[in-house]
Amino acid sequence: QAFPGDDTGDTRPRQTPGMLYSKATPTPVNKVTLLAWSEELAQELGIEKPVAQEDIDVLGGNLVAPTMQPYAACYAGHQFGNWAGQLGDGRAITLGEWPASNGQTWELQLKGAGPTAYSRRADGRAVLRSSVREYLMSEAMHYLGVPTTRALSLVSTGDQVMRDMFYNGNPEFEPGAIVLRVAPSFLRFGSFEMPAARQEQDNLRQLVEWTLARYYPHIEGATLEEKILPWFKEIMDRTAFMINEWLRVGFVHGVMNTDNMSILGLTIDYGPYSFLDDYDPDFTPNTTDLPGRRYAFGKQANIAYWNLGCLASALATLLPDAKELVTLLETYSQVHYQKYFDMMARKLGLDQVQESDPVFITQFEETLAELQPDMTIFYQLLIDLPLEDGTEEATLAHFQESLYTPPGAREKALLHTILTAYRARLRVNTLPREESQALMRQANPRFILRNYLLHQAIENLTQGDNQLFTQLQAAMKTPYAQEHDQFFAKRPDWASQKPGSSMLSCSS
Ligand code: AMP
Ligand code: MG
Ligand code: MG
Repeated sequence: QAFPGDDTGDTRPRQTPGMLYSKATPTPVNKVTLLAWSEELAQELGIEKPVAQEDIDVLGGNLVAPTMQPYAACYAGHQFGNWAGQLGDGRAITLGEWPASNGQTWELQLKGAGPTAYSRRADGRAVLRSSVREYLMSEAMHYLGVPTTRALSLVSTGDQVMRDMFYNGNPEFEPGAIVLRVAPSFLRFGSFEMPAARQEQDNLRQLVEWTLARYYPHIEGATLEEKILPWFKEIMDRTAFMINEWLRVGFVHGVMNTDNMSILGLTIDYGPYSFLDDYDPDFTPNTTDLPGRRYAFGKQANIAYWNLGCLASALATLLPDAKELVTLLETYSQVHYQKYFDMMARKLGLDQVQESDPVFITQFEETLAELQPDMTIFYQLLIDLPLEDGTEEATLAHFQESLYTPPGAREKALLHTILTAYRARLRVNTLPREESQALMRQANPRFILRNYLLHQAIENLTQGDNQLFTQLQAAMKTPYAQEHDQFFAKRPDWASQKPGSSMLSCSS
């Protein structure tokens, strides 16, 4: 199906009304060097690891195969709660679609391959630092079991890229890089907001029809109007699932603008993200998000709801009456909490969510927020919690390894109280202890890609040392196992992510 697009190949930044994409050709770079390759993903796709320079060149946009018709997508979005109008793929170029051997199709997209019609005030390039972050983290999320876009390769470009925002705020040159990322689709909420805002009914309708036929063929309904409600319900379900998976592993996206929300419920556009080290629901890794903390860890479900509201507004323009869609949207909180308590029950090794569990789980999280232990280490220690009620001191000693700051009397008492309640809950668990522990081992990662580790790996890589990078690449593949315990440690003091220290910005 042909979408209305601008095929001139003009990459001067501009508004493209009436268009859903613009043709964009990757701009060649100095020298494409392969830094990382995702072999398991490659096998799934049926793509062989490139060896000849000509084939490696494809991964950096220096060679475009004759069958490729590269383009940049036009989309809009709400950024930090404000309508931003047209955004689009400013530094991403889709090369085309690849049919995998199992019948699934994947869009192949270069991130950092040069300017497009949507590059606005920037260069369409990506630096090694942000490319390593996207490459490693999207693959790490996959192995954690979190829905995500994937990354097939990482190449350096041999060029220097200027960035006006670096950790210290001074303009700096950094080595350029390109990630080849793949997903069934890179369509975002903002892809639908764009034609809706421009009152391009035909474009919106065509895009919705195609998305339904392509990615949601099971949605039933005689007309498009009839399909929109069940479709939106599924988008809500997928989004709620994704957010709860983030909460499970302690992931903060950092820039949950509507242009960064996948229509398939995938984690997309890895920028200033971070895992939590210390459990702080107010934590945001994004300096651009201070002091509002709109996208803080604990606000992500609310923001997802807000973003779904934007999508609903766009889709409502196709409906004679928005009432039912609004009613459906308002069930989001229920959808979220059901998934949330199920997820928390697994983290805590509970057989099922009993009537009194939501109150207990809420208190459990409140206690963690008071104590702010290392989230990952705390849950690992919880797996082996002795079942007999001990003293307050014994409880504290069990979790000592996870604490960043010595708890006061109040925090000690809170911890002891909640764990006494937890032990009581475990006694009425219908799961045998070993099964409960096995459940917890599957729900709680033992290895996470901490920000400071990424930071170190990138520094080393810049100096030609890929040892840590390689180690992290191996560890992220088995995040629930004990085999990478050299990384099972709290974040060191120097790597604190409090404002003013090693935080990240949107331009990451
Ligand atoms: P983000 O917040 O990273 O998802 O990006 C928001 C918008 O800015 C998107 O339209 C991006 O394509 C665009 N953008 C980000 N970085 C660049 C860049 N280096 N060059 C051109 N456009 C960019
Ligand atoms: Mg984006
Ligand atoms: Mg970005």
